[in-house]
Amino acid sequence: MANSTPKIAIVGAGPAGLTLARLLVVSEANVDITLYERDKSRASRPDQGGCLDLHTDTGLAAIRKCGLWDEFEKYARYDGEEMIIADKNATELVHMRSKGGGSPEIDRGSLKQILLDGVPERYVRWDRRLKRVREDGMLEFEDQKELEGPFDLVVGADGATSKVRERLSSVKPSYSGVSGYEFDIKEPARTCPDLNKMVGRGGFLGTSDRKFLNTQRMGNDSLKVRSWFVCPEELTLEEVDKYGDEGIIEKILSRYEGWAPEMTNFLRQADPNSLRRWVTYELPLDFTWDHKSGYTLLGDAASLAPPFSGEGVNKAMVDAMELAQLLQRSLDIYDDLTWDEAVQQYETQQYPRAHKLMETTRYFVQSSFFGTAPIGLMTGLLKRKTGESSSVFIRALGTAPFVALLFTYFWIRQQIGWGIRKLWRRN
Ligand SMILES: Cc1cc2nc3c(=O)[nH]c(=O)nc-3n(C[C@H](O)[C@H](O)[C@H](O)COP(=O)(O)OP(=O)(O)OC[C@H]3O[C@@H](n4cnc5c(N)ncnc54)[C@H](O)[C@@H]3O)c2cc1C
Repeated sequence: MANSTPKIAIVGAGPAGLTLARLLVVSEANVDITLYERDKSRASRPDQGGCLDLHTDTGLAAIRKCGLWDEFEKYARYDGEEMIIADKNATELVHMRSKGGGSPEIDRGSLKQILLDGVPERYVRWDRRLKRVREDGMLEFEDQKELEGPFDLVVGADGATSKVRERLSSVKPSYSGVSGYEFDIKEPARTCPDLNKMVGRGGFLGTSDRKFLNTQRMGNDSLKVRSWFVCPEELTLEEVDKYGDEGIIEKILSRYEGWAPEMTNFLRQADPNSLRRWVTYELPLDFTWDHKSGYTLLGDAASLAPPFSGEGVNKAMVDAMELAQLLQRSLDIYDDLTWDEAVQQYETQQYPRAHKLMETTRYFVQSSFFGTAPIGLMTGLLKRKTGESSSVFIRALGTAPFVALLFTYFWIRQQIGWGIRKLWRRN
């Protein structure tokens, strides 16, 4: 390496880029960090979307490594783990109550704030939208005459539409087949107390007919309502153009004909002005790139899948943690690992993690939107979870007789729910 103080460009101040920057800052590694972000300032995009659950060995481990545990605890919601899964008759099939431990929820905005506060402002260059990485390694930004660089490492943490990825691979993400709409219910305790109660402290997920309708509690007690369904890539854009913010909710409701009104009421209570559209993309399950000295990718730039496994942020933070650790090792004069070997080793470790995430998500999408959800989704989940266990006893729970038993149990519950609903409608 030419420089004794290596220069790193991190493109993207999302969970991946911010975690990496913070880890390099706290490690006091002898590196010169510049974090480029397309947002105009730290105050841009105040609504960062829903909340996330961080897991012990991944997102939470990264938070600890970042030395931000106390800050995290101020915003973490352990009761947010509560989750209800129902079918379209609002028959509650699963109710996971908070165990007050494993996977606390945190609003995406709070997570960003905590990480950002952990990175000195002088390292962050706002309003820098990367246009391309040139052959000579220089970074070219939209509306900026000056090129930036050269760097010893350019880290693409620039998410789904990564421009750094284009330097390493010609593969482009493809449409996953699933799109959605998102709305807020700002004061549910006041405007719709029954719905507010239905969600509990965490989330309510209704799935049937190859559609999702899910509602999530936010840190300020508001609710986020999302409708996900299979459709052509352009459809949501066309619908918003055609029906406008005011008419779109009626259009979405027309897809949920026959669903329990207490579930579709989430949409009726939603604030149309809070509309957000999601069109989800994915990279191939076996996506890799040929190692190129001086570049690498983290998070969604390295592995992209629709957001149905709840692992994207966790994986992004682990990527950052591993890369930071390896880079630090390469800077240790007593360690033989070179800078480039550190990056290469990170990439080798990242691939299986990425492939597992993308494969698991593909399974969720297939079984929820193209299969027999909700029962098929849950029995499939049991098979997968138990199959991963090293315990023979737990693996036995995923064998055909147990799966059949579980299927029958949920099927009976659904029939009872459906019967009650029919009687209720008649009266
Ligand atoms: C609706 C939804 C719900 C989700 N729910 C969950 C969940 O519950 N749990 C979970 O673990 N994951 C969830 N995910 C997935 C998760 O959001 C991503 O996996 C995660 O944000 C990836 O982090 P990242 O830092 O790699 O990318 P991003 O979060 O996409 O951050 C990329 C950053 O780079 C910046 N950027 C992009 N392009 C450029 C450019 N050209 N130049 C400069 N800057 C650029 C962006 O502004 C952004 O700040 C969800 C995703 C969606 C869409």
